[in-house]
Amino acid sequence: MEAPLEPADRDRLRRLLLAKGAELNDQLTRLLDGKEVALETLVGGGDPGETPAERVRRFLDLIDARLGEIRAGTYGRCATCGERLGLARLEQMPWADRCAACAANPK
Ligand SMILES: [Zn+2]
Repeated sequence: MEAPLEPADRDRLRRLLLAKGAELNDQLTRLLDGKEVALETLVGGGDPGETPAERVRRFLDLIDARLGEIRAGTYGRCATCGERLGLARLEQMPWADRCAACAANPK
Protein backbone atom coordinates (compact mmCIF):
# COMPACT_ATOMS: atom_id res chain seq x y z
CA MET A 1 0.00 0.00 0.00
CA GLU A 2 1.50 3.27 -1.13
CA ALA A 3 1.37 6.42 0.97
CA PRO A 4 -0.76 9.33 -0.27
CA LEU A 5 1.11 11.96 -2.27
CA GLU A 6 2.41 14.93 -0.34
CA PRO A 7 1.15 18.26 -1.71
CA ALA A 8 4.73 19.23 -2.64
CA ASP A 9 5.17 16.00 -4.61
CA ARG A 10 1.85 16.49 -6.35
CA ASP A 11 2.90 20.03 -7.34
CA ARG A 12 6.21 18.72 -8.69
CA LEU A 13 4.42 16.02 -10.74
CA ARG A 14 1.99 18.66 -12.02
CA ARG A 15 4.93 20.75 -13.25
CA LEU A 16 6.43 17.66 -14.93
CA LEU A 17 3.10 17.05 -16.68
CA LEU A 18 2.86 20.67 -17.80
CA ALA A 19 6.44 20.57 -19.14
CA LYS A 20 5.76 17.33 -21.03
CA GLY A 21 2.53 18.76 -22.40
CA ALA A 22 4.39 21.84 -23.69
CA GLU A 23 7.02 19.60 -25.29
CA LEU A 24 4.30 17.50 -26.95
CA ASN A 25 2.48 20.58 -28.23
CA ASP A 26 5.77 21.68 -29.77
CA GLN A 27 6.26 18.25 -31.37
CA LEU A 28 2.70 18.28 -32.68
CA THR A 29 3.27 21.71 -34.26
CA ARG A 30 6.45 20.43 -35.93
CA LEU A 31 4.68 17.30 -37.18
CA LEU A 32 1.82 19.33 -38.63
CA ASP A 33 4.44 21.50 -40.35
CA GLY A 34 5.79 18.33 -42.00
CA LYS A 35 8.99 18.25 -39.91
CA GLU A 36 10.70 15.18 -38.50
CA VAL A 37 10.12 14.44 -34.81
CA ALA A 38 11.88 11.86 -32.63
CA LEU A 39 8.94 9.74 -31.56
CA GLU A 40 10.83 7.27 -29.40
CA THR A 41 10.27 9.63 -26.49
CA LEU A 42 6.53 9.08 -26.78
CA VAL A 43 4.30 6.81 -24.78
CA GLY A 44 4.89 3.14 -25.52
CA GLY A 45 2.76 0.88 -27.63
CA GLY A 46 1.21 2.98 -30.32
CA ASP A 47 -1.88 1.63 -32.01
CA PRO A 48 -1.29 0.00 -35.40
CA GLY A 49 -1.99 2.41 -38.23
CA GLU A 50 -1.76 5.40 -35.92
CA THR A 51 -0.02 8.40 -37.46
CA PRO A 52 2.71 10.18 -35.47
CA ALA A 53 0.41 13.19 -34.99
CA GLU A 54 -2.35 10.91 -33.66
CA ARG A 55 0.13 9.35 -31.30
CA VAL A 56 1.22 12.74 -29.98
CA ARG A 57 -2.43 13.76 -29.56
CA ARG A 58 -3.17 10.55 -27.65
CA PHE A 59 -0.26 11.28 -25.32
CA LEU A 60 -1.49 14.86 -24.89
CA ASP A 61 -4.94 13.52 -23.97
CA LEU A 62 -3.34 11.36 -21.27
CA ILE A 63 -1.53 14.39 -19.85
CA ASP A 64 -4.69 16.50 -19.92
CA ALA A 65 -6.61 13.74 -18.15
CA ARG A 66 -3.99 13.54 -15.37
CA LEU A 67 -3.98 17.34 -14.97
CA GLY A 68 -7.76 17.18 -14.63
CA GLU A 69 -7.39 14.52 -11.93
CA ILE A 70 -4.91 16.69 -10.06
CA ARG A 71 -7.49 19.51 -10.08
CA ALA A 72 -10.22 17.09 -9.01
CA GLY A 73 -8.04 15.55 -6.29
CA THR A 74 -8.25 12.03 -7.75
CA TYR A 75 -4.74 11.89 -9.22
CA GLY A 76 -2.39 8.98 -8.55
CA ARG A 77 -4.73 5.98 -8.45
CA CYS A 78 -4.73 2.97 -10.73
CA ALA A 79 -7.71 3.15 -13.10
CA THR A 80 -8.01 -0.64 -13.00
CA CYS A 81 -7.52 -1.73 -9.37
CA GLY A 82 -7.80 1.61 -7.52
CA GLU A 83 -4.50 1.21 -5.67
CA ARG A 84 -2.36 4.31 -5.19
CA LEU A 85 0.47 4.62 -7.69
CA GLY A 86 3.84 4.90 -5.98
CA LEU A 87 5.76 8.16 -6.09
CA ALA A 88 8.65 6.40 -7.86
CA ARG A 89 6.35 5.28 -10.67
CA LEU A 90 4.69 8.68 -10.95
CA GLU A 91 8.04 10.47 -11.07
CA GLN A 92 9.12 8.21 -13.90
CA MET A 93 5.76 8.42 -15.68
CA PRO A 94 3.55 11.18 -14.23
CA TRP A 95 0.94 10.42 -16.91
CA ALA A 96 0.58 6.80 -15.73
CA ASP A 97 -3.02 5.78 -15.07
CA ARG A 98 -2.31 2.17 -14.11
CA CYS A 99 -0.09 0.54 -11.53
CA ALA A 100 2.81 -1.56 -12.86
CA ALA A 101 0.94 -4.84 -12.23
CA CYS A 102 -2.22 -3.75 -14.08
CA ALA A 103 -0.21 -2.15 -16.92
CA ALA A 104 1.65 -5.44 -17.42
CA ASN A 105 -1.60 -7.47 -17.47
CA PRO A 106 -4.26 -5.40 -19.22
CA LYS A 107 -7.70 -6.84 -18.62
ZN1 LIG B 1 -3.66 -1.55 -10.64
